Amino acid sequence: MSSASAPDGPAPSSGGGAPSSGGPAHPAGSAPAPPDAHDRFAAFVVRRDGDGVTSGIEDLCLADLPGGDVLIDVAWSSVNYKDGMVTVPGNRVARTSPLVPGVDLAGVVVSSADSAIAPGTQVLAHGGDLGVSRHGGYARYARVPAGLVVVLPSGLSARDAMAIGTAGFTAALSLDLLEHHGLRPDDGPVLVTGASGGVGSFAVVLLAARGYDVVASTGKTDEHAWLRGLGAAHVIGRGDLDESGGRVLAPEHWAGAVDCVGGDTLAQVLRGLRYGAAVAASGLTGGSGIDTTVYPFITRAVALLGVDSVRTPADRRRDVWDRLATDMRPPHLDDLVAAEVPLPDVAGALADILAARVRGRLLVRVGAPETQGPARRGAARRGTGRGGAPAT
Ligand code: NDP
Repeated sequence: MSSASAPDGPAPSSGGGAPSSGGPAHPAGSAPAPPDAHDRFAAFVVRRDGDGVTSGIEDLCLADLPGGDVLIDVAWSSVNYKDGMVTVPGNRVARTSPLVPGVDLAGVVVSSADSAIAPGTQVLAHGGDLGVSRHGGYARYARVPAGLVVVLPSGLSARDAMAIGTAGFTAALSLDLLEHHGLRPDDGPVLVTGASGGVGSFAVVLLAARGYDVVASTGKTDEHAWLRGLGAAHVIGRGDLDESGGRVLAPEHWAGAVDCVGGDTLAQVLRGLRYGAAVAASGLTGGSGIDTTVYPFITRAVALLGVDSVRTPADRRRDVWDRLATDMRPPHLDDLVAAEVPLPDVAGALADILAARVRGRLLVRVGAPETQGPARRGAARRGTGRGGAPAT
């Protein structure tokens, strides 16, 4: 195997020619040679074991991968809350065992049954059943359906794509939905909950870059300055949202909201929306039940917009990624990267995200060589939060 891959491409494979970090998309590069059927490659594997779960690094071969159209030499993956959930005993997220987690990945195409995705193309993939009921990004190779594959837009490297990842894509979808509902920057304050996490921090950055007056809600008292640096005009604590005093409606604060917390937090957001405003809801780190009344809906005409990144149709996926490379390109991308985690250390990163100890995004370095870029030296860090995230 040669080692011609550029810094951001997968680690030595063969043929080389992957684009450099931050360079243009690579639709016509040379493809890495496929591994032999018996070649072994490293993967982080989660197995159900009675009522428990075991996990660790194992050696897989191509025959261990599920069927699919596109074989990808994975350079980068990332850590999302859902990746943590599949390691929790009794979780209802993992649908198969053994499972390679990793709901998103980026790398270069090794072979493809789809003529629109040529070998050598730099791509990303996320959603569908990736990392849930089919092996995902925490392995050197992934075989995925063509419908989940997006050719990297020009200007986004594989590392950039995973710095954005499912979290950034979900934040972009949330903003897109709110703007389709009518939200405009001069409408008033827009609330982001779970603001120090992946979806939340991206929402802060994307909204601020488009001129919104962003109010970030976080449980991490030591991350207020960081959130202001990302563009939040105001930072409030989680408890500050609960001001209804038992009433069904709170004062009308929010012109819009991005909520990835769910539970009581989402109920409080609904109580505090202005007349005609909407909240885009994507997550459940604070719980899956919502105890609310119909009053916000029938007396203030508010809207609860569901956000789903898993079954997003292929053309919409491409459109949103194109926007993330152009008019929605996050201006503080490296500030959002908490760390690059090598595959053998991914278990610790998954524990961190479940315990809400992550600020921003964790990248998983799979096949990409180690870099010394700004994110590795960056101020973002792990281990600043507190526990409390529910298991499912
Ligand atoms: P992160 O863990 O990075 O961020 C979640 C944030 O939620 C935390 O940083 C924390 O923010 C807050 N939080 C954590 N625990 C609690 C709690 N017990 N009560 C209140 N707030 C809490 O996760 P992600 O950003 O990756 O994902 C966020 C949510 O969105 C998850 O539920 C995930 O499953 C979901 N999701 C959904 C998608 C979809 O397609 N619908 C796609 C991607 C994610 P802080 O400390 O700042 O308050």
